[in-house]
Amino acid sequence: MTNKPQFIVSSVYGPLESWRLGKSLGIDLIMDPSTCSFNCTYCQLGFIQKITIERKIYVETKRVIEDFKASKWQEADVITFSGSGEPTLAINLGETIKEIKKITTKPVSILTNATMLNLDEVRKDVVEADIVSVKIDAPDDITLKSINRPADGITIKSILEGIKKLKLDIGSKGKTKIQVQMMFMPQNKNQIEKLAEILNEIKPDELALNTPTRPYPSGWDIITRGAHGEDAKKIIYETKPLKTLTKEEAKAIEEHLKELTGLKIISVFNPTM
Ligand code: SF4
Repeated sequence: MTNKPQFIVSSVYGPLESWRLGKSLGIDLIMDPSTCSFNCTYCQLGFIQKITIERKIYVETKRVIEDFKASKWQEADVITFSGSGEPTLAINLGETIKEIKKITTKPVSILTNATMLNLDEVRKDVVEADIVSVKIDAPDDITLKSINRPADGITIKSILEGIKKLKLDIGSKGKTKIQVQMMFMPQNKNQIEKLAEILNEIKPDELALNTPTRPYPSGWDIITRGAHGEDAKKIIYETKPLKTLTKEEAKAIEEHLKELTGLKIISVFNPTM
């Protein structure tokens, strides 16, 4: 790392163009250090600094709301909880969504790895959002360990149970939409049938297919969040290229999954927004 500038970083960033969700304003309830219950091999944050399942307040709600009011939130299509790690580790997630909904009627989405959805209190927070985008990259524990490198105790079974409980909580009249996000890499690109079985069990509202579009950084600093802006360019890390899908492979996977699940599918190669 070189020339690290010293200044206060906002807990709100963007809006940034998102292929999944349109123009998205990011809310970061985790901040610094990067903290997650996964340590994905493709994570744009690099190697996660704190791998944990500890829920707590990482950034005070009051500060997030002040940052939100000072941001360009009016320019966004959607408000997205993502940022420097797993948003459901923040115990004030539900409270913050409620406060933001007092300010704007714009849709709120959460990008989550779904590892904490087994907890009643987490699902209570999450159903405050309009869209919950849950990550499923692996159909079994071997692939989970290979791609997502989870914290101890997290298994595919526990993740799927959490997602199913969330579906039950939302119920047939619930307004929260569930999107599944799948990142395709060499480890899972030949496991389409097993992943389709999982999708048929969960029955999400839509599926978002992804492949790593950025190289894996050897380090991380919060000012590179979103990988945009002049300040991000002042910090330079070495990066490692990742094996991605070709456009043809992605198209074939998309067609195969559509045939096996009948789901509405959006792809990083073919965004709808
Ligand atoms: S779940 Fe998201 S934040 Fe956590 S390691 Fe994976 S890509 Fe990074």
